[in-house]
Amino acid sequence: MAVFVLDKKQQPLMPCSEKRARLLLQRNRAVVVRLHPFTIRLKDRIGGTAQPLRLQLDPGSKTTGLALVREVENIDPDTGEVRSEAVVLWLGELTHRGAAIRDALTARRAIRRNRRNRKTRYRAPRFLNRAKPKGWLPPSLRHRLETTLSWVKRLQRLAPLTCIRQELVRFDTQAMQTPEISGVEYQQGELAGYELREYLLEKWHRTCAYCGAKDVPLEIEHIIPRSKGGSDRVSNLTLACTHCNQQKGNQDIDVYLKDRPSVLRRIQTHVKTPLQDAAAVNATRWALFNHLKATGLPVTTGSGGRTKYNRRRLEIPKTHALDAACVGEIDALHGWNRPALAIKATGRGSYQRTLLSRFGFPRGYLTRQKRIKGFQTGDRVIAQVATGKKAGTHSGRVAVRASGSFNIQTAHGVVQGISHRHCRVVQRADGYGYTFQPQPKTEEARRAA
Ligand SMILES: [Zn+2]
Repeated sequence: MAVFVLDKKQQPLMPCSEKRARLLLQRNRAVVVRLHPFTIRLKDRIGGTAQPLRLQLDPGSKTTGLALVREVENIDPDTGEVRSEAVVLWLGELTHRGAAIRDALTARRAIRRNRRNRKTRYRAPRFLNRAKPKGWLPPSLRHRLETTLSWVKRLQRLAPLTCIRQELVRFDTQAMQTPEISGVEYQQGELAGYELREYLLEKWHRTCAYCGAKDVPLEIEHIIPRSKGGSDRVSNLTLACTHCNQQKGNQDIDVYLKDRPSVLRRIQTHVKTPLQDAAAVNATRWALFNHLKATGLPVTTGSGGRTKYNRRRLEIPKTHALDAACVGEIDALHGWNRPALAIKATGRGSYQRTLLSRFGFPRGYLTRQKRIKGFQTGDRVIAQVATGKKAGTHSGRVAVRASGSFNIQTAHGVVQGISHRHCRVVQRADGYGYTFQPQPKTEEARRAA
């Protein structure tokens, strides 16, 4: 994994390799700034040459993929064609906590409603300002947007980013307007085929249109068969499982579904309703796009169809981070087989100091101060215990207790009751938990295993 480098004045320099960072630290030319993502600061350098660095994003509902790539433009010696290639420097996967936020708000709502119902009396409405402001997003979605933006800004401070690329839409409707598809081409090969497949999967809810089968390989199916003059236009295409596709053969849909009139009617109406543009489907992606433009860096976009096309063509396994690395127009990707930093949004603890029981009654109180003996829940610590049952070195995330006897969440489980006297802070809590995602197994490694 690349190591982020800052100069003497804390300005970002090009990330360096692990080996180089190790040498710089050994020779006492650099100091460690952060553990996650690992960042060093050079003690004797101000400024330096920078190469084009691009941050690529694949925003997802639960996890957002992040990839930092160095742009390389290679000119093909034979054809003189410019190939846009990229070298992956750093990969990250940001896991959001939208579900936790939604659950907490639902619980709070239920408790408040319950309390109101217990104390029933007439109360005049106190305000009438319930309209939602323009651009309002539900708290869980706003969290997704804000954490992603905060990581873009954080990486902007750690690396000299020159542009950002984001996967904006699931499929590019422009590329699908005239899909020149024939034979197997639209099943696998060309880019337009991938856009089309993504579109159809979305439109037909990833099910067989005829029997409703889910999680089976789906084939693109002509509603009016091509042999009877049916076109390749999207309005004549649907998805069917292999069984249904073969059964239908080159029959007309009316003939094939004459015993199932309800299915026929459903397909006929569904085929005519155009799929709402991804704009409405994915409000957060557009909101993110507009906020990214505000960073001042040039923002380019790609579609989900193209991401998948790139990933398949370059034989790259599917992870969130590697999906991000494959966004947009790209001819070759180097150095992608590296571990990704898994970043999990954990929050910064609760604002509410009273712990509530299931019925909304107080069951305990948190301390007024979050910091105990200089430690806070979420800090990464190393504890060196010399004697006793807990003797040894424990490192991980600390959970503080008012007594000064802490719990440490290590990679091997929770170690309870470690005194604050043995602990040393390695990195302060910043609302995220960090682990490493192992390198994805390539086809070769899988075959060897
Ligand atoms: Zn079927």
